[in-house]
Amino acid sequence: MKETSTAKIHLLGLSKAELTEHILEFGMPKFRAAQILEWIYKKRAAGFEQMTNLSLGDRQLLADKFEIFTSKLVRNVTSTDGTEKILLQWPDGVDGTGGLTETVMIPCDDDQADEYGNTTVAHRRTACLSTQVGCPVQCAFCASGLEGLKGNLTAGQVIEQALRLTHNLPIERRLSNIVFMGMGEPLANFNVTVAAIRTLMAEWAFHISGRKITLSTVGLPPQMKKFADLEIPVNLAISLHAPNDQLRKQIIPWAEKISIDQLIDAGRYYFEKTGRELTLEYIMLDSAGGGVNTLPEHARQLATIAKQLRANVNLIYYNEVPDLSFKRPSGQTVFSFQNVLRAAGVNAHIRKSRGRDVAAACGQLARQDRKERLAQGFVQIGTPEKNQDE
Ligand code: SF4
Repeated sequence: MKETSTAKIHLLGLSKAELTEHILEFGMPKFRAAQILEWIYKKRAAGFEQMTNLSLGDRQLLADKFEIFTSKLVRNVTSTDGTEKILLQWPDGVDGTGGLTETVMIPCDDDQADEYGNTTVAHRRTACLSTQVGCPVQCAFCASGLEGLKGNLTAGQVIEQALRLTHNLPIERRLSNIVFMGMGEPLANFNVTVAAIRTLMAEWAFHISGRKITLSTVGLPPQMKKFADLEIPVNLAISLHAPNDQLRKQIIPWAEKISIDQLIDAGRYYFEKTGRELTLEYIMLDSAGGGVNTLPEHARQLATIAKQLRANVNLIYYNEVPDLSFKRPSGQTVFSFQNVLRAAGVNAHIRKSRGRDVAAACGQLARQDRKERLAQGFVQIGTPEKNQDE
């Protein structure tokens, strides 16, 4: 997506070095960059006027040159379990989508290990970030993929999602974990994803350890290897969702060109380069006719892959999407599947199902919002979306 609707620079897309360059170019002292970053990322200033240790002239100059928040908050819904979902609209909604992006904050107030082995953070606040509007992969079960890719987000727009969620937290709380599991395929927007991860990890910004950041990919072997070569120590999760190529092709169109063997090869490369264990994500899907990928033989096939990769497995309950025929399996089905994996020596977790009452499935809130606004006449496909405030 375009950075902003004006010529202003989106400050959240800049590294400290890039901001410093601009600050010097605009005739301000070099130390202003550190002051500005502290105001934005530590003190949560939403505007330059709040930066009271800067001269009035510099505050005005900054406001003339830069933007901090560029999106419009369209919806902010909180589930009964505390999961918070926000829907952001970016300025260039010219494709008729309104450039809607979903971002989720998942709270957890116990000190149980999560599925990535993090045991040290009680009161986790996990942000689930999007890297694209819509998704090019078009998995058969996913609301984000239903209408394909609408556009790539910028690094500033990815960081803006995290900062929006941070502003919703009490000042003594911060985001503790990040998962790139929102709309889009992060490795298909490679440079943006890498830049955003660097800002999330940077001491001058969010200062989140790589161990608490998980990048989830449907599996693009060349990009996985390129990412491994950067040796950024974050967790990598592969969205496998099917234990053999034949079934995977039926539910993930990109699997036509990418075999599970290629994923295993790239996954091993990632482990060798970074030393970080991999996780296999597996959405449990049923249909009216029975199990899609939930049968015992699927579990045995999945166990073989997990052992080849020395990977953990996350089993995820499907959140049903209106218009799609996939069903959520029963608890018994999921537990039995987990037992087969565990009996084969695989570390398999069942991921807690969160936020079901707030359109929890990825892309579902954006889709629901569009439908409602279409019904109200707010959106015309193929033309710029009218602002609801008009
Ligand atoms: S499940 Fe992930 S990769 Fe597949 S369409 Fe949805 S967002 Fe894209």
